[in-house]
Amino acid sequence: MSQHAFAEHEDALAFDRAHLWHPYTSMTAPADTQLVSGAEGVRIQLADGTALIDAMASWWCAIHGYRHPALDEAVRRQVEAMSHVMFGGLTHGPAIELGRMLVDLTPDPLQHVFFADSGSVAVEVALKTAVQYQRGRGRPERTRILSLRGGYHGDTSGAMSVTDPVNGMHTMFAGLLPQQVFGDRPPTAGAGAEVAAWSAHVRRLAEAHHDELAAVICEPVLQGAGGMHVYDAECVRVLRDVCDEHGLVLILDEIATGFGRTGALFAAEHAGIAPDIMCVGKALTGGYLTLAATLCTSEVAAGVSASESGVLMHGPTFMANPLACAVASANLDLLSRRGWHDDVRRIESGLRTGLKAAEDLPGVTDVRVLGAVGVVQLDRQVDVPKASAAAAEHGVWVRPFRDLVYTMPPYVVTDADLQTICDALLAAAADG
Ligand code: PLP
Repeated sequence: MSQHAFAEHEDALAFDRAHLWHPYTSMTAPADTQLVSGAEGVRIQLADGTALIDAMASWWCAIHGYRHPALDEAVRRQVEAMSHVMFGGLTHGPAIELGRMLVDLTPDPLQHVFFADSGSVAVEVALKTAVQYQRGRGRPERTRILSLRGGYHGDTSGAMSVTDPVNGMHTMFAGLLPQQVFGDRPPTAGAGAEVAAWSAHVRRLAEAHHDELAAVICEPVLQGAGGMHVYDAECVRVLRDVCDEHGLVLILDEIATGFGRTGALFAAEHAGIAPDIMCVGKALTGGYLTLAATLCTSEVAAGVSASESGVLMHGPTFMANPLACAVASANLDLLSRRGWHDDVRRIESGLRTGLKAAEDLPGVTDVRVLGAVGVVQLDRQVDVPKASAAAAEHGVWVRPFRDLVYTMPPYVVTDADLQTICDALLAAAADG
């Protein structure tokens, strides 16, 4: 880097540190950030010339990698037609095409699509839809939500209220958040007796609270940001039963798990059930633009319409943004054509082999893999700067949290790059 370029680089970082919030950071004691100048394929290019393999797929999003020609072209084509028009009273081809694809790809009963501008907003819409549905069915007192400990559903108020009450943000926002009903964290796969005990516990909770509950919400089979916890699919079936027994709406938050990440197109398939409402986001646009969607059944839509307002009470400014919809359709088209299933199976097998040695590292309590997600859990809080530096030595970008070093790479990662990611995770787990 020339002296001039170095000065510009330092100046940019100094402004960033002084003025820009990053996720979960302090303005008075800002965390270190690295300046990115570009990204291509599975690699993030830093301004200092370093290239890092993105083991995080930009937080579950960039499933086809960066600067994919088909996705770049979809955005370019759409810019030439229109970047945005309001969705109130107007509609457009990109929304209709994407709506068709989502109705087609998601479980059959889901027929109606609400386009939201982020995952958290999709969850807000899901919660409001469930409450309006209950009002429309003559049960206005049903406004609370049954959620699970260990879950994560986003950072807006409604989403925070159904996120884990201990590790989430309940203490900080006590008084602001509605008080929800929480079931225990569901047990790991194959823990038969524990699953039976958990099921009995959840059934008791629903029995005790059903008069005030509108819905149940969970991330099926894999709780992500709440701890990368893989749990028994039977628990999702139990939640489906509980909802059917008590007239509750089952909301599956597939924002992280959707579009193949767990080895099924949607994680609900592991349980063989369909929800009443499903939220999708993250990988929906392949990481290009912010877009999410909340889908519901015709029964739920009819219930909403029977409520006093007669309409679903939500309507964001950037609803169904044409650029985002166009790139999302191109992304889903690519997903089907590329054979995501083979990619995810290949990555799953590579992660199982590549992370095996982590089991023998001191301080590692668990190594788990589900689909294209690999997790190394430690007996301590990870030292994030040290762990990230250890991974960067291998040319890999990771972002550990709490006691977890983990990866959910782009589906297009090569076997050689995947091996490098595994080596980097081992180094991060050893040093962090
Ligand atoms: N739900 C789940 C399961 C998530 O993992 C996330 C984000 O990590 C969200 C909701 C919130 O999505 P967003 O960050 O797009 O608001």
